[in-house]
Amino acid sequence: LDFSLSDDQRDLQRATRDFATNELGSEFVDGELSHEGWKQCAAYGIQGMPVTTDFGGSGSDPLTIAIALEALGYGCRDNGLLFSLNAHMWSCEIPLVRFGSDGQKRRYLPGLVDGSLIGVQAMTEPDVGSDALSITTTARRRADRWVLSGAKTFITNAPVADVFVVFAATSDSPGIGRLTAFLIDRDAPGLTVGQPFHKMGLTTSPMSEVVFSGCELGSDALLGSEGAGFTIFNTSMLWERSLILATVVGTMQRQLDEAVAQARTRMQFGAAIGTFQAVSHRLADMKVRLEAARLLLYRQASELGTARPSAMWASIVKVFLSEAFLRSSEDVLQTFGAYGYMAEAGVERDVRDAYAARIYSGTSDIQRNIIAAHLGL
Ligand SMILES: Cc1cc2nc3c(=O)[nH]c(=O)nc-3n(C[C@H](O)[C@H](O)[C@H](O)COP(=O)(O)OP(=O)(O)OC[C@H]3O[C@@H](n4cnc5c(N)ncnc54)[C@H](O)[C@@H]3O)c2cc1C
Repeated sequence: LDFSLSDDQRDLQRATRDFATNELGSEFVDGELSHEGWKQCAAYGIQGMPVTTDFGGSGSDPLTIAIALEALGYGCRDNGLLFSLNAHMWSCEIPLVRFGSDGQKRRYLPGLVDGSLIGVQAMTEPDVGSDALSITTTARRRADRWVLSGAKTFITNAPVADVFVVFAATSDSPGIGRLTAFLIDRDAPGLTVGQPFHKMGLTTSPMSEVVFSGCELGSDALLGSEGAGFTIFNTSMLWERSLILATVVGTMQRQLDEAVAQARTRMQFGAAIGTFQAVSHRLADMKVRLEAARLLLYRQASELGTARPSAMWASIVKVFLSEAFLRSSEDVLQTFGAYGYMAEAGVERDVRDAYAARIYSGTSDIQRNIIAAHLGL
């Protein structure tokens, strides 16, 4: 195993860190996606990384993408923007890249890459979360058209999205063949986007309900083939669980740098607080978590570029990185004391944002179920 980065990867890391620190800055408005940040990221090439060059992307390998996203997370403090970008790439671009027809790719990918289109994936419903195979939104054939009825909820980017990857049941029989995926434009008749939700964290990543009331679609809206929805969803989840927390590894590095600086300079009892073992060991634990998270991320990103990436490893990465991020965010807050508890410090925001990581893209319980199933349990 060779853990060293190539010269090109180091250059990309440095350039992306500088871009995120200098361009994306730290100014953002609670409750709003930064459209300017979105466009800047597109111009820099972030949204194009998983897309092949013939549709405007760079077709980067997953390890290179992970390194760039980690650097983006180090420099950019807007966790909501980073989360929205991740949702767009793994749950809309990847299904299109992997399963879209040539016509669908030509229609959507250039805009998803250049920042003019925003994508979402809609699976979760008011009564169906973890048990995705039981969704109740239906798509029925009517002559050469499809008619969708049902409601989706907790859909990231929906309030500002242009393209929706939507999963619906096309069969009444249970099993993985009952789900089919559709590509739907925002202005499709019968599609209604709800009001943005107020959330505990990730407040700059808009989220809402999406309702389909007899939403009529042409046959060109079918993504992949009828009954292939669960395979498409699993492919998207494999990429998402592997890479959605790459930005967080960068955030954890920044948190550690800032916590160390604070521990060296904050004086109490006539000494820097970092000289107290209770404080220094907390920071040492942050370092252990960060390095383990980075190794897991790089390992999984390397494997994602091979023919048979493992769903179990994707779950290992997702559960470890999400829980490490929450623990480290709490540790930074404790290190900063009362100042960390103040909104202006931006420290408590990371804690609120980190809680979401244990829920989205399959909860920690579900990741552990997947790992346990691979152990034969
Ligand atoms: C910030 C954020 C963004 C999201 N974005 C999207 C999006 O873009 N698109 C989308 O479709 N959805 C999205 N979701 C929804 C997300 O996918 C669901 O929240 C998740 O799948 C869990 O479903 P649920 O919330 O309904 O919880 P439930 O499935 O009702 O689970 C409730 C609790 O029971 C536990 N549980 C359930 N089943 C089991 C089991 N078999 N074994 C052990 N424990 C179990 C869960 O772990 C959890 O603790 C988002 C959620 C969040 C928080």
